Amino acid sequence: MTRVILKPGRERSVARRHPWILSGAVAEGDAACGETVEVVSSAGAPLGYGSFSPQSQIRVRLLSFDPAVVPDAAFIADKVAAAIARRADFFVRGETNAFRLVNAESDGLSGVVVDSYAGHLVCQFTSAGAEQWKEAVVAALQKFAPDCRGVSERCDNKSRAREGLPTDVPFRHLAGAEPPELIEIFEGEVAFLVDVRKGHKTGFYLDQREARRLVGALANGADVLNCFSYTGGFGLFARAAGAASVTQVDVSADALALARKNEALAHLCGTKMDYVEADVFQYLRACRDAGRTFDLIVLDPPKFAEFKSQVMRAARGYKDINLLAMKLLRPNGILATFSCSGAMTGELFDKILAEAAADARRDFQMIARTRQGADHPVALGFPEGLYLKGVILRAL
Ligand code: SAH
Repeated sequence: MTRVILKPGRERSVARRHPWILSGAVAEGDAACGETVEVVSSAGAPLGYGSFSPQSQIRVRLLSFDPAVVPDAAFIADKVAAAIARRADFFVRGETNAFRLVNAESDGLSGVVVDSYAGHLVCQFTSAGAEQWKEAVVAALQKFAPDCRGVSERCDNKSRAREGLPTDVPFRHLAGAEPPELIEIFEGEVAFLVDVRKGHKTGFYLDQREARRLVGALANGADVLNCFSYTGGFGLFARAAGAASVTQVDVSADALALARKNEALAHLCGTKMDYVEADVFQYLRACRDAGRTFDLIVLDPPKFAEFKSQVMRAARGYKDINLLAMKLLRPNGILATFSCSGAMTGELFDKILAEAAADARRDFQMIARTRQGADHPVALGFPEGLYLKGVILRAL
């Protein structure tokens, strides 16, 4: 087996159980795409085994931190089974039938993401190693996921491209039953249709489940502006809680079309629903110019920063929309604002919000913080895993 020798001192992150070996940490060692390699310190001490990614900045993704355990199909199956077992609560409680079964690094399977939509499992294999272990993962999912109806995969993500993996076919059915065109799922009392072939990520933003519940519950009687609505998530929770009106704004016509279908899944109610296909940056300005105000505004934008180098530009974008939204809030109004940029730290996000509030000349209280749900856990040794940050503010 190929050995990858680290530069002096670079074994420290491995000792803290960080699964990434960056290209700059490697002194010696070259292997094929996805090949399993042995990682040793500069002094030759064995550290563990991982998968080699010749094209990526993340050169090795460690799977085994035990020099005595070489990853094989059974090792991968154990990791999959353990990740599923840790979600037993989700299966038992039945509050939702859509949740993440495997959360990559934080479940010990770097590059492997698996989401279940009513038993239709949708995977993303985002690294060379993950691609290599695909068959073992799929077999284990069929064996261990209690309600597995079928397994498919989404290939159209940027990390695959960075690893030199094909992204031309966006969706592949891999095993079991093919998923229907739209899968109906529920989160508590709210139902959604999910398009696992063409929707974002694997089809739905499962990571915002808890925030949707929390923010929705604040919406009784409110006029709600749901910016970056995608298929309506926060807005439909607000509607279920008795909002007076909900305006769903997204730049994607397809997302809004599905949002309307999602509205039709629920009982008729008194909430006035509006759908606006627009750029949020422009729409917020139009609201300002028209003197419109709201009781609750949700800002859940896409990733503005993927890498540290993009953080400053991203900060300007976050400040812009938050400042605009802060000015549109009625007294005691609520701003639920999120950042899903892993490169943006929680501290920096707080600072941007404080600056926006100062520029808006308004005082705010923080009433809650949110993060990705428990099915998207964060391994303590892998702080990068905490990408989704939410702050709920009340305007004074
Ligand atoms: N809150 C949603 C998820 C939002 S994802 C939920 O709970 O499901 C981000 C959304 O922002 C995507 O639907 C994308 O189409 C939309 N988007 C991206 N840039 C935009 C822009 N400039 N203006 C409006 N919508 C935008």
